[in-house]
Amino acid sequence: MANLDDLYREIILDHYRTPRNRGELPTPPATRVEGFNPLCGDEITLYLELADGRLADIKMTGRGCSISQASASLMGAAVKGKALAEVRAALERFRQLMTVTETRLDEGGEPETPDVRSLGELAALAGVVKFPVRIKCAMLAWTTLAQGLDEAPAD
Ligand code: ZN
Repeated sequence: MANLDDLYREIILDHYRTPRNRGELPTPPATRVEGFNPLCGDEITLYLELADGRLADIKMTGRGCSISQASASLMGAAVKGKALAEVRAALERFRQLMTVTETRLDEGGEPETPDVRSLGELAALAGVVKFPVRIKCAMLAWTTLAQGLDEAPAD
């Protein structure tokens, strides 16, 4: 059985080297929102197109460390086409992943629990909480997404 850490590292490297949903969308109708993590120098620009209560399309540009860029790619793959309620639920689950996993690790538990598994490939970022300085890298795309959803005109 493959080591879980190796599997997660592979997923992160795959998304870093071959980022999903790269590019831009015309604004409007898309909403453009920028995020910046001064601790690491990570940058992300998201283009969000909302339609019929869904995140109809998402594109992104950015640069920075592997964690920030892989997290953005993983996020886009996870939320594209989803109903906005599902997008917000994924956002909340990811926030929890970045805060509570540390406790589970301290207790000697594996980061892979049922609620983490529901995150699919996003679970690959669970190990980031072992390095608190990297949490902001992993969260950047998500906090930017939350900002964009708040700024996007309701349809
Ligand atoms: Zn970073």
